[in-house]
Amino acid sequence: MRRLYIAGLPVDNVSSEEAVAALESFVLEGSPHMVVTLNPEMVVRASHDAEFRSIVLSASLVIPDGIGIVLASRLLGTPLKERVAGVDTVERFAALAAKKGYRPFFLGAAPGVAQKAASTLAQRYPGFKVAGFYSGSPSPSEEEAIVKLVRESSPDALFVAYGSPAQEKWIARNLHRLGVPVAMGVGGAFDFIAGIVPRAPKLIQRAGLEWLFRLLIQPWRWRRQLALPVFCFLVLREKLTAKS
Ligand code: UDP
Repeated sequence: MRRLYIAGLPVDNVSSEEAVAALESFVLEGSPHMVVTLNPEMVVRASHDAEFRSIVLSASLVIPDGIGIVLASRLLGTPLKERVAGVDTVERFAALAAKKGYRPFFLGAAPGVAQKAASTLAQRYPGFKVAGFYSGSPSPSEEEAIVKLVRESSPDALFVAYGSPAQEKWIARNLHRLGVPVAMGVGGAFDFIAGIVPRAPKLIQRAGLEWLFRLLIQPWRWRRQLALPVFCFLVLREKLTAKS
């Protein structure tokens, strides 16, 4: 697995299949691993949030989630194989888990959503079972209770949907006491799987325009997209300094 760097942040050159194979290898290995799904907004966040930056640097696997990451890799002359969306990784892991008997814990999203996502996946992949689910919040006041809940359910994997950077910070704070071999922040994945938020049609996904579709159906996200010009600046600066 080749690791490259974009604006100083690591990203692993994995295909969708390789990402899930890596997740499974962490499950089998057993010691705690963190997986980050990197997008351009997160790269910008890391440029002014040292805590977040060191969390991404410490991750065992960084998946290129976001077409901007793939385009930047090409511009920098180290092209990534493909975009690997977090939601697709959860879905592929569920398909594998159904066969192998792995039981993940679904944490986060609005009340009822993680449960609905779990039952949707159980319908799609007969035999799929979660170790547990809980909405909760990333607030420190809930942390002890949530850690206990996750620990007691002994999951094989933990998917956390608290949005970035809260989910990555939550995982980093608790990874070593959760007793789970792999934990990954998944943003809006449960909303998509549960059918609360529609996913862009495959054609739009393939055209690299899923971000635009999401902006059209969730217009309040425009503020986040303000990070995109900063991301372009960071990548172009890297390209120019690498040349000189
Ligand atoms: N969320 C939550 N608690 C919070 C903040 C967010 O459960 O305090 C959930 C929210 O319901 C959604 C997910 O976190 O399911 C974040 O989704 P978003 O689309 O914002 O994430 P992205 O994929 O853009 O990081």
